[in-house]
Amino acid sequence: MIDCHVHTWRCRHATGTPVEYVRAAAERGISVLTFTEHLPLAPDLADRVPGAARYAMPESELPLYIAEIAEAATLGSSLGVEVLCGIEVDAVPIARPYAREMLAQHSFDVVLGSVHFIDDWAFDDPSLRDGYDVWSPDALWERYFGDVLDAARAGLADVMAHVDLVKKFGVWPSGPADGMYRETASALAEAGVAVEVNTAGLRKPCQEIYPGAALLRALREAGVPVTIGSDAHTPDEVGAGGAEALAALGDAGFRSVVVFSGREMREVRLDEL
Ligand SMILES: [Zn+2]
Ligand SMILES: [Zn+2]
Repeated sequence: MIDCHVHTWRCRHATGTPVEYVRAAAERGISVLTFTEHLPLAPDLADRVPGAARYAMPESELPLYIAEIAEAATLGSSLGVEVLCGIEVDAVPIARPYAREMLAQHSFDVVLGSVHFIDDWAFDDPSLRDGYDVWSPDALWERYFGDVLDAARAGLADVMAHVDLVKKFGVWPSGPADGMYRETASALAEAGVAVEVNTAGLRKPCQEIYPGAALLRALREAGVPVTIGSDAHTPDEVGAGGAEALAALGDAGFRSVVVFSGREMREVRLDEL
C-alpha cells in the first residue's frame, strides 16, 4: 500500500511526530509514505481568517519540517518505507502569490492543491458549520467545484486533494451531479493534474471516499491519474481505508495509481499494492 497524504503535529491540528508516522507505516506494510503538511497560511489569507494559527505551522518552522522529514526518511529506508516530503497548499487565488514564493524557496516531492476556503470561510472546519446556513447546497457545490477547477488551472499543484470536500458534512446537491462530474473530470485532465483517492471522507459525516464513486469513474474516463492518501492526522490513521480505496479504484476501472517524487510522476500497478 501507499499513503501519499499525511500530517504531523506541526500543523497544530494533528498529533504525532514524523518518526511515529514512519513506524506506523512500517508496521502496516506501507511502502511509500508522503508527508504533506499544510503550507503556512498566506499572510493575506491569515489576516482575514479568525484563528488562522490552528490551520498550519508558522513560516519559521518550514525549514524544520523539511529537515525533520529528511531525518525520518533515513529511518524509513532502514524499515523498508520510502519517505517523501510534500506540502499541501491552499490554492485559492488570495493564497497563490505566497505559495509561489514558498515553492520557489523550497523543493518538495509533491504539491497537493486544496480548496479549504470559500472566500474567508474555512468550510471544512467543524467549528464553522454555521456557515452552511447561508448557502443552498446546489449553489455551494457549483461555487466549490468552480474554485477547484480555477485552482487546478493555476498550475501550482501536482495533485488536487480531496476533490469533493464540499460534501464533508453530508451536504449534497438536490439532483444527480453527473454532468458536473464529467465537466470537472475533463477540465482536470486538461489542466494536467492528478487527483487523490482520499480516505478521510470515510471518517467524516459524508462517510465516503473523496471523490465519490461517480466522480472517480468520470476521472478514469477522462484519463486523470490518481494517487492514494489517508489524510492521517494521527499515526493511528496511517494507511486507514486502504482496502476501501483499492476497491473503489477497481470498481471505477483503474489498473494503476501514481506516486510523485521530485515532482515527477511514476505509475504503480494496483496489483502490486
Ligand atoms: Zn486538506
Ligand atoms: Zn491534508
